[in-house]
Amino acid sequence: MKKLSILLALIGLLNFDAKAQMPSDNGIMRLDEFRYPKKREIINIPNVNGLTVLKCDFHMHTVFTDGHVWPNVRIGEAWKEGLDAISFTEHVEYTPHSDDVKVGNLRPHELAKTLAAENNIILIKGTEVTRNTPPGHFNALFIQDDKNLVADRASDLDEKAIQAVVDQNAFIFWNHPGWKAAQIAGSYEWIPFVEKMYQEKKLHGIEVVNGFGFHKKALDWALDRNLTVIGNTDIHNLIAHDYDIEREGVHRTMTLVMSKDRSAEAIREALEKGNTVAWSSNYLFGKEENVRNLFHACVKFSSAYHEKTNAQGKKTKYYELSNNSDLHFELHLKQGNGTQKVILYPQSTQIITASDNQSKLTYEVVSTYIRSDQHLKVDLSL
Ligand SMILES: [Zn+2]
Ligand SMILES: [Zn+2]
Repeated sequence: MKKLSILLALIGLLNFDAKAQMPSDNGIMRLDEFRYPKKREIINIPNVNGLTVLKCDFHMHTVFTDGHVWPNVRIGEAWKEGLDAISFTEHVEYTPHSDDVKVGNLRPHELAKTLAAENNIILIKGTEVTRNTPPGHFNALFIQDDKNLVADRASDLDEKAIQAVVDQNAFIFWNHPGWKAAQIAGSYEWIPFVEKMYQEKKLHGIEVVNGFGFHKKALDWALDRNLTVIGNTDIHNLIAHDYDIEREGVHRTMTLVMSKDRSAEAIREALEKGNTVAWSSNYLFGKEENVRNLFHACVKFSSAYHEKTNAQGKKTKYYELSNNSDLHFELHLKQGNGTQKVILYPQSTQIITASDNQSKLTYEVVSTYIRSDQHLKVDLSL
């Protein structure tokens, strides 16, 4: 009996201990298993000739014009996807939510800048000068304020509207040229208005990829005039609504900026120098030199690690081609005798074979565009 009471007392003590150690749940059991794990993705791209490759989206909208989300949502998205810099580029002349949301081009920036800083996202002040097409829309980055922007869309004010952002020392690029090519005849041309902007050094870049569209003529215009090649989402909805980002390897359209450091000032400098490559889907778009430098930073070719001789005495050598990045490369053989087609998935290696009586294989990297009708060509030295 005594033993039993000691035992009961011990059990009581154990129970008491167990209770003391259990955190109080205030009557609510947490069911967090189905939450998104809170983490920021790393988009792995090695430095290019000592420059860091920043992942930037310079074109997006919020409820302050015709977007569907509050500004802080854009910061959360950018953080999650591993972006370095974004810009809210609300329309100056088009404010369909103005009955419900107070108009202010830099209001999203104001509301989100603290959260951006806390999340290590570089937030660049911007706006979208939204003229009728043609000439169409222009993004102005690095504006100072939104006080003297021209909200009147009358065509005779087009030049004044551009001048308003020029006066703010903005970096200006032409958005989605040809977006109304099917509806407005002559709207997908290098028009006198744009030529004049270019001549007066008021045009600094062209958005060659807008969301899911590669604007082919725009790439050639940018290359022929040494204008900066840009790629953006122009997202209006949630990123996850338009991009299947939960799928392995899926990323939003963006501009890869090869920058001397991770700051707004360095991004501006890199944009002015044209140190960019647009990245959308599995494709890269840009000046040949930039795409080539990026390719060589990511892709390494080994020396031969094996050889075999067939019954006819012909020798085949084995090499490895490795992709040390999250970019996707597809190579088609143009010259030489070796592996015809190579898909270099992100962070992976492929085997290349080549007969031994030659000094190189020449491939076209068909997942790159250095003109609308031209891919980067690379030589692999054997
Ligand atoms: Zn637009
Ligand atoms: Zn837009």
